[in-house]
Amino acid sequence: MSQRPFNFSAGPAALPEEVLQQVAAEMLNWQGSGMSVMEMSHRGAEFTSIAEASERDLRDLLQVPSNFHILFMQGGGLAENAIVPMNLSRGGKVDVVVSGSWSKKSAQEARRYADVSVAADGAAGRYTSLPPVGSWQLRKDAAYVHLCSNETIDGVEFHELPDLKALGCDAPLVIDCSSHQLSRPIDWSRVGLAFGGAQKNIGPAGLTLVFVREDLIGHAMSICPSAFDFKTVAEAKSMYNTPPTFGIYVAGLVFKWLKAFSYAGKTGLAAIEQRNIDKAQLLYAALDASPLFENRVATDCRSRMNVPFYLRGAFNTDTLTQAFLTGAKERQLLQLKGHKSVGGMRASIYNAMPLEGVQALVAYLKDFETQYG
Ligand SMILES: *Cc1c(COP(=O)(O)O)cnc(C)c1O
Repeated sequence: MSQRPFNFSAGPAALPEEVLQQVAAEMLNWQGSGMSVMEMSHRGAEFTSIAEASERDLRDLLQVPSNFHILFMQGGGLAENAIVPMNLSRGGKVDVVVSGSWSKKSAQEARRYADVSVAADGAAGRYTSLPPVGSWQLRKDAAYVHLCSNETIDGVEFHELPDLKALGCDAPLVIDCSSHQLSRPIDWSRVGLAFGGAQKNIGPAGLTLVFVREDLIGHAMSICPSAFDFKTVAEAKSMYNTPPTFGIYVAGLVFKWLKAFSYAGKTGLAAIEQRNIDKAQLLYAALDASPLFENRVATDCRSRMNVPFYLRGAFNTDTLTQAFLTGAKERQLLQLKGHKSVGGMRASIYNAMPLEGVQALVAYLKDFETQYG
């Protein structure tokens, strides 16, 4: 089979080729069952074994403590912007750190259910840096503090989660980790709840992962739909209603792929994290050294996953941006167009992107500089 193009989509995004091949091989007849996974009862023995293995492998990969539930839900990241306040706020106070487009959306949605205060906002710097933790205005009696640990559009990432206790804040931290979950470990001692849609780094759209600490469930507002009440979902082991079965199966294969992944003498999550670091360094170094291209994010919070970049100064025209994208496609470098709200280009280099994909992109940047610089 000829090599597939390198796909830089921000989401739904590329999946490991080995996983896609296994899905294809098992499509009509999963492991001798005579059924596709899509055709199985979610309560039957076959699917139960798939779901249990997925959860076990995920818990293992991320070292999720036993006092956290892992929920397989539907609705995506945006639905969680409503589901989390309905479950955690008790109609009270919610502090949100706005570090880019996605956390801004989270603040807006939470306002429908809770008294929301923006603890800090990076708007003045056009979301090219993170508001310094010491400047956050946290309220003593907030039900929780929300942040987006990787801003997919702005390309800004928390490389370390804040220690709220050290700031004198006892509220649990909620993180939207949609676009970098499983790219690195999570420090669970600093987190009360983490959520993320699967389609960026884990599997097909339609599956949403929620990790929630045991003591935070059971307080849903009465308006919360039963299917979105964390307690109901947890007690039914994510089977209160039909879960996104195919997504759980594909995600499970991705988890197995990650566990077996090796790179630079490491295995599993440590190996994928190291490769993510190497890919990001390679790309940022090329952009920083380029006379033609630039990334505008402060060096201490550049995302390892989503790298927005632009043509510099007078080169930054629609015509040249379009020429770049057309040339990229001819080279089998797909979906590099920037988000519509910010323009330019964006390379999303999630777990499934091999080092060779970033090397090919860097080679193209250099060729483009030679031609137009
Ligand atoms: C993509 C994304 C979302 C939205 O996810 P949907 O599944 O489309 O609802 C939310 N937050 C972040 C950080 C994202 O990258």
